Amino acid sequence: MRRPLGSIDWFPGAEHQTLYEVLLIAEEGWQLYPIYGVDADGVCACPKGKSCPDPGKHPTTPHGFNDASSDPERIAETMRCVIRKA
Ligand SMILES: [Zn+2]
Repeated sequence: MRRPLGSIDWFPGAEHQTLYEVLLIAEEGWQLYPIYGVDADGVCACPKGKSCPDPGKHPTTPHGFNDASSDPERIAETMRCVIRKA
């Protein structure tokens, strides 16, 4: 059953602004997947850190765009690692 956006408090961290904005976009029907960000020095947030060859330009999910979804629960799950690092 699809949950209305107004009830995203079902997900811990739903107050996170990025997640809220992403869920708004998903409500429009876009399929999304998270990518790693970079810190103020341009170092990738992925496990490779400074040695990453593509800082901030690759997905956090194993199958990249093939993991894209418009399902709020799936999006929230794939964004857990992003939210923890924010
Ligand atoms: Zn990286």
